[in-house]
Amino acid sequence: MAPGEYIRNPSTKGFKITEERYSNYLLAAIYYDLWQTINDSKNVYLCENKNCQLPFVKSGRKKYCNEACKQEAYRIRLVEKEGRKG
Ligand SMILES: [Zn+2]
Repeated sequence: MAPGEYIRNPSTKGFKITEERYSNYLLAAIYYDLWQTINDSKNVYLCENKNCQLPFVKSGRKKYCNEACKQEAYRIRLVEKEGRKG
């Protein structure tokens, strides 16, 4: 007696599993990735732009995650300075 072999008919869509968790846990995935980076003992800093404060991997003397943040933080500092003077 030969064992029975079931050949699945690909056109038969009995059920379909939809993966939605990737979108639901996208942020978690990003953070998981971040912790992995920290565990790799890379230098992870928070962006010094008050309006941003996103973690980023520091390279060199960077204090901000990108140039736009650097400029925004500079403008914020100027405004704060002006505020104290007045
Ligand atoms: Zn930033």
